[in-house]
Amino acid sequence: MNFSEKTTKNNGAKTRLPELRLKARAVARGVAIGHVVCLHGRQRQFYRISLEDSQIEREIRRFRAAVRLARRQLKKIALPPADGQLKKSNIFDSHLLILEDRSFLDKIENQIGREKVNAEWAVKIVSEVYIGNYKAIADEHLREKYIDVEDVAERILGALGGGGKSGIKLEKNSIIVAREVKPSTLIELMESEPKAVITEHGGWTSHTFILAREQNLPAVTGMKGILRRVKTGDHVIVDGFNGQVVLHPSDKSLAKYRIAVENFQENTNRESEPVGEKLKTLDGCEITLRANLDLPQGYAKARRLGARGIGLYRSEFLFNQFRGFPSEQEQIKAYRKIAALSGDEGVRIRTFDLSAEQLGPVNEEKEKNPALGLRAIRLMMTHKKQFRTQLRALLQAAAQHRIDIVLPMVTDVAEIVAARKMLDAEKERLRQRGIEHGEPRLGAMIETPAAVLIAADIAREVEFFCLGTNDLVQYVLAVDRDNEFVADWYKTLHPAVLRSIKTVLVTAAKNQKPVLVCGEMAGSPVYVAILIGLGATELSMNVNSIARVRRTISNIAYEEAREITERITEFSTSDEIEYFVRESFLRKWSHLFSREILPAVKTKKGKLRIRD
Ligand code: PEP
Ligand code: MG
Repeated sequence: MNFSEKTTKNNGAKTRLPELRLKARAVARGVAIGHVVCLHGRQRQFYRISLEDSQIEREIRRFRAAVRLARRQLKKIALPPADGQLKKSNIFDSHLLILEDRSFLDKIENQIGREKVNAEWAVKIVSEVYIGNYKAIADEHLREKYIDVEDVAERILGALGGGGKSGIKLEKNSIIVAREVKPSTLIELMESEPKAVITEHGGWTSHTFILAREQNLPAVTGMKGILRRVKTGDHVIVDGFNGQVVLHPSDKSLAKYRIAVENFQENTNRESEPVGEKLKTLDGCEITLRANLDLPQGYAKARRLGARGIGLYRSEFLFNQFRGFPSEQEQIKAYRKIAALSGDEGVRIRTFDLSAEQLGPVNEEKEKNPALGLRAIRLMMTHKKQFRTQLRALLQAAAQHRIDIVLPMVTDVAEIVAARKMLDAEKERLRQRGIEHGEPRLGAMIETPAAVLIAADIAREVEFFCLGTNDLVQYVLAVDRDNEFVADWYKTLHPAVLRSIKTVLVTAAKNQKPVLVCGEMAGSPVYVAILIGLGATELSMNVNSIARVRRTISNIAYEEAREITERITEFSTSDEIEYFVRESFLRKWSHLFSREILPAVKTKKGKLRIRD
């Protein structure tokens, strides 16, 4: 199929579809031209793949193995509880019946063979027919059965992914379109170098988009219903600077955007040119830049751009790569690899920041509010064996390298005390076994309102702070950072957020503890000027933000930034602050922030907001 010639048949003649321009929320800078690949599935994400005749038998075997795995999982979950007190649920029995229904399974196998498609796609097509039939039944009780089919289909899809990566690559110039893309899916798809991402849901600080920015992959979101408008193969342009998607682009748009793509690539290359290490504001205030890194490949570029070590390594990305907790040896290897890259400047490795949902098999009880649930340090405290394994791995890797440990989502000093006790116990175990270990420093993520309020107490228990502005905004303002519907309430320049940041910086200074700001705020030139005005001197950011942030810092004076942030305290609403920041920046730093690069965008509520 020639994707650039998207046509419909019209009495034998071919008609080109009219161009459609759709507004989106830009979340990763860049421009791309390519063809749509629609991604489906909730837990396990997949797309339609056409198979060769020779691949079909193997695909059917893969499907049968997945069904066997799904049955084993269900039998395990359906076992009556050991204490015999709770009644065994019979939901799982009906799920097992579906998994043993020969006609359902045959239909899926026939779909694979007849349509020559991957098992995931066949499961989707067949289960959708069943779901549609159940939904059409008048009897309410019977109608509800469609939920069981949905659950079983999701379980088979999960099992299909259980054996590791699909190994099948996206075609060249693919643009991923999905309701949302999980970070683990994006990591897997990055291997085939997609050109851009379009989603219905997700926020600026969603991990998927943090990863997209790290990979220089243009991305837009907020495109409700996009999967109903596009088909795999549709020709599309993604403008991640201005938040626009051009579907079925005309020749004129293609010509215009081809130049934009070239410029984007040129700028990216230019931004990779090496620079000196020391970075100062115009009035001589030294600022240290570090890199946030989830995949080791990016560090060479970060180093060239003057990053001093790795400020944040999210170890949970290993969990995604290994599809579960990596073993002690796998972790030691990964930590040594990242620490060897960062050398004397060191790496801050954050312990697993996972949610319960990421651990459990599908269909187990879901948390209503995962962000407020069993997450990060809380989760690891309920998985002590795995936490001890991680601490042991970190200690051993720290024997040869400079590694610091950071605890995520701290809300109570007791969590730090307990973690340190476990760290000391693991050190002792290693010592007794004659295994070499290092002496990593322990730090805390300050990213909850509780941590801000008890920052002085936390300072007595740790060697350093990492200020996580992504979660801080989420928790201070009670606004889900991944939820597109409340994106307008995610206000980085809210007075409560700015006062929280100020409190943390002042408390840390009083207690002589360094603070590294490592949320996405630290990678945005506008916010960086404010962070510096508030007193931040250490910033850690995505590799692809370093060049722009450097340019900003070396062209502003700390005193000017301080004056602006001091005046911010006069305002009590984020709208007033945004207006004031915009006007002050345009007046003082017009060489850095023109109206084009400091645009105000209209929100759904009709107000103007500075774009992140
Ligand atoms: C943060 O919350 O700001 C942060 C750096 O961590 P993450 O984005 O992984 O939650
Ligand atoms: Mg966080």
